[in-house]
Amino acid sequence: MIPIAQPAIGEEEIRAVTDVLRSGNLVQGDKVKEFEQAFARLVGTKYAVAVNSGTAALHIALLAHGIGNGDEVITSPFSFIATANSVLFTGAKPVFADIEEETFNISAGGILGRIGPETKAIMPVHLYGQPCDMEKIMEIAGEHNLAVIEDACQAHGASFKGSMVGSFGTGCFSFYATKNMVTGEGGMITTDNEEIADKARMLRNQGQKERYLHKLLGYNYRMTDIAAAIGLVQLKKLPEFIKKRQENANYLSGKLKVDGITTPSVASGCEHVFHLYTVRVTDECRIGRDELARRLNEKGIGAGIYYPLPIHKQPLYSRTGFGDSLPVSEKLSGEVLSLPVHPQVSRGDLDFMVDVVMEACR
Ligand SMILES: *Cc1c(COP(=O)(O)O)cnc(C)c1O
Repeated sequence: MIPIAQPAIGEEEIRAVTDVLRSGNLVQGDKVKEFEQAFARLVGTKYAVAVNSGTAALHIALLAHGIGNGDEVITSPFSFIATANSVLFTGAKPVFADIEEETFNISAGGILGRIGPETKAIMPVHLYGQPCDMEKIMEIAGEHNLAVIEDACQAHGASFKGSMVGSFGTGCFSFYATKNMVTGEGGMITTDNEEIADKARMLRNQGQKERYLHKLLGYNYRMTDIAAAIGLVQLKKLPEFIKKRQENANYLSGKLKVDGITTPSVASGCEHVFHLYTVRVTDECRIGRDELARRLNEKGIGAGIYYPLPIHKQPLYSRTGFGDSLPVSEKLSGEVLSLPVHPQVSRGDLDFMVDVVMEACR
C-alpha cells in the first residue's frame, strides 16, 4: 500500500522524545520555546506561539484579533472543515468566497464581492501547499482595514514572491500526523505584532498573563515538550521533505499526459510545497473520477479526494443558511483527486501510479 500521507519519523525524533521524558519537563518548557524560535526564523516573523493543533491556532488567531459575535470573516469553502469551524467557535460568521479554477485557492475578486459592513477579517487558505495571491489579498485587506489570518496548515515553507506564508498576516500552522512536518498533534501561530503574540500566549494558557492572574477567557491549548522536541527535528528536515515532494510532483506532471487529467499548475511567484498533489479528472477520462479513485485504491495506491463536499454544502453549514451557490468550488469538488507524493514515495511507485491512471483514462 502507498498511503496518501506517511509521517517520516526517524531515530533522531525517537531520541528527542526519550530525552524529554527523562527530563521530567513535559509541557510548555524549554523545548517549546526553542521550537517557537526556530519556527519564527523559518517563517521570518518576530514571534511564533506554539499550540496543540492547527485548529487551536486558527481559533486563537481570530480571538487575538478581537473577532467575535456579529463579525464576519471571509474564507474559502474549499478547505478542511476546521478553517470555517474556527470562525464559528468565536461567534463570528464565516462568509464564503469562491475559488480560482487553476489554483483551488480563494479568488481576490470573490473576496471583494463579499465585503460588507460586518467584515472584520479575511482567512485565506494556502490549499495543498500553494500560496494564495497574497499581493492582492493584502491590498484588499489594507483598503478595507481587515485583519488577515492565513490558514497555512498545509503550507509550511511555501512562499509567495520570496516571502514565506504565515508572514503576510497572522499565520496558522498544523503539525498533525499527515502534514508536511509533524509532531503528532500540534500547531503554531506566527506574527510580527507583539500585541497579537502576547494575547495568543494568554489565550492558549487559560488567559493567564502571570501565574493565576486571569485576564481573558482562555483555553488549554498548550503544546507538550514531547511534541516540540519532534518538531525541532522535523523542522531541520523540512527543506529536504519539500524538495522530495516537489521532485515527485514534477515527475508525475511530466508523465501524466492523457485526456481527462489536468495536472496542478503553480501560479507565478509561488513556491508550492505539494502537501497534496491534486489533479482534476474531467469527462474525457474514460472511467470518471470516483471510479478512478476506486481503481487506484484497489491497486494499493492511497489516492484521496480533498474535499468531496465544499464546506458550505456540509450538513452543519447548509442547515444554517451558508449554502448559497459557489459554482467553482462545487464543480471542482467533483473533479479533484490527490495522489501520494510524500517523501517516502519511490520512483517505482510513481511509475506505477502513472500506468494505472493512463490505462484507466484512455
Ligand atoms: C489540518 C488542517 C487544519 C487543522 O489542523 P489540525 O492540526 O488538524 O487541527 C486546518 N486547516 C487546514 C487547511 C488543514 O489542512
